Amino acid sequence: MRVLITGGAGFIGAHLTRALLARGDSVAILDNLSTGNFNNIREFTPHPNFAFAVDDLSNALVLDRLASSADAIVHLAAAVGVFVVVERPTETIETNVLGTHAVLAAARRYRCRTLIASTSEVYGKGIKVPFSEDDDIVLGPSIRSRWCYAASKLLDEFLGLAAYREFELPVTVVRFFNTVGPGQTGRYGMVVPRFVRQALHHEPITVYGDGEQSRCFCHVHDTVRALLALLEQPQQTAGEVFNIGSNHEVTINQLAATVIERTDSASTIQHVPYSEAYAPGFEDMRRRVPDTTKIGKAVGWQAQKSLEQIIDDVVRHEAEGAGA
Ligand code: UDP
Repeated sequence: MRVLITGGAGFIGAHLTRALLARGDSVAILDNLSTGNFNNIREFTPHPNFAFAVDDLSNALVLDRLASSADAIVHLAAAVGVFVVVERPTETIETNVLGTHAVLAAARRYRCRTLIASTSEVYGKGIKVPFSEDDDIVLGPSIRSRWCYAASKLLDEFLGLAAYREFELPVTVVRFFNTVGPGQTGRYGMVVPRFVRQALHHEPITVYGDGEQSRCFCHVHDTVRALLALLEQPQQTAGEVFNIGSNHEVTINQLAATVIERTDSASTIQHVPYSEAYAPGFEDMRRRVPDTTKIGKAVGWQAQKSLEQIIDDVVRHEAEGAGA
């Protein structure tokens, strides 16, 4: 299969690229390196089945050329990380909505199998545990810029599903829950690489709020397995939305304690009020647990790696000095 990965120089994209090349597929990457990093893909550049272009999705000529020789497009390019979203809402909305619009136009031209990455953020302020794909969605008010991320990704989902219904384009939407593993940067707020780095430096672990908020952390290797399985089953999965995430729920306090234990660190836990950590008015999700029954039934996938395995992999990567 020839796969175009938008945002392929990002954390998930680089892991997906490695897996596709390893099994003999061809990969082309389009990434403007805004939050992606060329170092993530440098190792692939000598590979005969690998190509990349550093550019925006708004460069229609480049996107067209890459899509014209792709069987499938995995659209990962998006504004990511709460810091970017809260500080640069215009860029967030434009990157997400206009980018997905451009990708779908190119995919329609060449009838590419298309996976669109969305996010558990679209579940918004919902308090249901776990979140299922057909749950109603409750977002916060538009005066809080945090919600522009969820709203823009939701619009991406609508665009993708509309392309399936109206033009029979084989589009599948995936909602990533917290995805972690080696190579993720902590620069945009992601908690696991931040905690691991703090622990390795024996600095205080900065837990935001009371730390009793919880998340389910999925190893990126599990996430990549899910993407490969979905790519291969367009019949069962086109026109559908799938959660991808782990079912193992931990509080952020528990995460901090586990990171300290696995690194044998002298770090202490420091609780930082949300008002200091984020812009005023920021609203954190209390719990975020995926219902993964649907993807389990469709392609037989479930997350396998434990939190300890995830932390150990991230520690190994950071200790090698490879973290950015
Ligand atoms: N968090 C934290 N300390 C940090 C970074 C994040 O306590 O240095 C918290 C954050 O407030 C949230 C959880 O960890 O409750 C997960 O944050 P992340 O940004 O990784 O993902 P998301 O908020 O999108 O679930």
